[in-house]
Amino acid sequence: MQLQEIVMPKVVTKKGHTSVAISQYVLAQIDKEIKRPQIHTLGINTKAAFVDHAVSEYLLKVRRYEASFFEQRFEARNFYNDTVVIRDYFEVMDYEVVIQETPSTKEALLYCRVDNNHSCVHVGYAFSLPDILESCQKKGLRVRKHLDE
Ligand SMILES: [Zn+2]
Repeated sequence: MQLQEIVMPKVVTKKGHTSVAISQYVLAQIDKEIKRPQIHTLGINTKAAFVDHAVSEYLLKVRRYEASFFEQRFEARNFYNDTVVIRDYFEVMDYEVVIQETPSTKEALLYCRVDNNHSCVHVGYAFSLPDILESCQKKGLRVRKHLDE
């Protein structure tokens, strides 16, 4: 019996990347998909970019599903210098909401540094936090929800 030489495939790795094996069937589907012009508008021009995008979207979807299952979209993680860091499990991101003061009316406004407004869901959640209300009271500020025009 003759031993067959095993030829190992050449592995090309880029810094910060790794290789995985996928089936020929899935590879054929990816080849079809990346030829569509709609995919190019997302900045996806290679198989690697497609797989990276598809898996990232999948992971985001799973996390959003899990967050909705536990009905726990937000979590206040940290409070410092009139700023609260809120974890948004739907967006899988941290958001900073800061207390702003209106000197003329002595009112507190809450401002989301990521969404750049006073009325997003993170501001709404921040209004429910005792740390925020307590901090406003200590400064003698009235708390009122503000709606951006
Ligand atoms: Zn926000």
